[in-house]
Amino acid sequence: MPHRVTLIPGDGIGPELALAARRVIDATGVAIEWELQEAGEEVMEKYGTPLPPGLLESIRRNRVALKGPITTPIGTGFRSVNVALRHELNLYACVRPCKLYPGVRSRYEKVDLVIIRENTEDLYAGVEFEAGSPEAQTIRSFAPAKIAPDAAISIKPISITASRRIVRFAFEYALAHGRHKVTAVAKANIMKYTDGLFFRVAREVAAEYAGRVEYEERLVDNMCMQLVQKPELYDVLVLPNLYGDILSDLAAGLVGGLGVAPGANIGDGVAVFEPTHGSAPKYKGLNKANPTALILSGVMMLRHLGETEAADRLERAVAEVIREGRSVTYDLKEDRNDPGAAGTQEMADAIIAKLATLP
Ligand code: NAD
Repeated sequence: MPHRVTLIPGDGIGPELALAARRVIDATGVAIEWELQEAGEEVMEKYGTPLPPGLLESIRRNRVALKGPITTPIGTGFRSVNVALRHELNLYACVRPCKLYPGVRSRYEKVDLVIIRENTEDLYAGVEFEAGSPEAQTIRSFAPAKIAPDAAISIKPISITASRRIVRFAFEYALAHGRHKVTAVAKANIMKYTDGLFFRVAREVAAEYAGRVEYEERLVDNMCMQLVQKPELYDVLVLPNLYGDILSDLAAGLVGGLGVAPGANIGDGVAVFEPTHGSAPKYKGLNKANPTALILSGVMMLRHLGETEAADRLERAVAEVIREGRSVTYDLKEDRNDPGAAGTQEMADAIIAKLATLP
């Protein structure tokens, strides 16, 4: 029986990357029935919304999706489709592996860490009040000495339930992927109630895994420095939403940039695999963007589907093509203006050719 997977090409560079990723994944020999679903800025005219109703149904039915990036139009009042998807499907865990492949230009020799970010609450819950609004004035009345009269206010909810769920996810991920340590990251010395709660709950969960997975804590500012100085010391990091967002990009930078950074948003029984990067509109249709991040998201998807052997082979094929450094896109070349850089589809072709040579 083939796996049924919802494929969302997205917009900007999304469709060309999705084409490349689909060709490469099909070349592994794993039987996948792709259910194509449009979304994003370019379908707004057709459906009156960037998130057509059939899309959510398709993901709920198939339980697995591979998704290209989607543009968030600025100033139209439309909510980000990416945020809406995470919300509607309760995709509470964002998983971003950051692994350095030989051949990628980086200041480091070995980086292989995984960032696990809570996706549903924190300052990203969207509870914000405009400066001067009655709500902002009411909140200010609780601490008039600490909040300026003309302050806009964002609320940071951190719950026991969501913290426990994400930390448990991180430990289970570590066990399932043969990893040995989970580092919880927050700023509990300053935010004693919210981030303090995150650490307290993390410690309780860690105790259940004692002897199987190590546990440690870092303050987020110190973590940034540690990651820049000695990333090889870290394994799985678990963070609340905002810190997770920022450190994901930092970690992507350690391993060669957004073009090679895959990801997944996972909920109970539903998983959407997507690269960390956005729709890079300036490269749209130029056959120039790097397909690696979406292809490696496909590798994560294959593992999730239980197709471990195909996932390992595809990852090796990608790693080989990057190591050889010939058929890679501009961003992986020493000189970004190298006229010999491969296009998106040519890099995919090279990965397909490499797959055919692997046992
Ligand atoms: P971006 O990731 O699209 O682009 C930033 C820069 O990174 C680009 O200019 C490009 O130089 C480089 N880059 C990104 N992907 C690349 C690739 N595959 N190959 C080579 N270089 C690549 O970020 P942005 O410009 O801040 O956002 C553009 C749009 O994407 C916005 O509308 C934003 O909301 C959206 N976005 C979507 C997602 C998502 O779909 N999950 C994530 C982030 C941003």
